[in-house]
Amino acid sequence: MSVKLQPNMTQNARDLRICEDYWAYDNQSDYIAHVETVCEKYEISSPVLFAIIAQCYVYLDDVVCEYCGYPCPLEVPADIPYMRAKDGWLCAICEHALWRTDKERK
Ligand SMILES: [Zn+2]
Repeated sequence: MSVKLQPNMTQNARDLRICEDYWAYDNQSDYIAHVETVCEKYEISSPVLFAIIAQCYVYLDDVVCEYCGYPCPLEVPADIPYMRAKDGWLCAICEHALWRTDKERK
């Protein structure tokens, strides 16, 4: 039951720590303040921070696609409570496939 990080091949241990700190956001405190804290800790600007975060693939191992079992990818920390609150989640590929099947039936 956690957020998993899969860093890009080009990312080093420091980049991974930055991502871990960023994704440790609790979704309760001030998001902007959280971003600033991570930036200050590593002495980087927020565009640099987001460039590093964008390189790292993040997913939830307790939310998987109902059909294919693909783990749910995350784009922003707010996705964590949002995705967990859903009854069921479908990955983009399955969702698209089901949508097409539904249309063809009609
Ligand atoms: Zn799927």
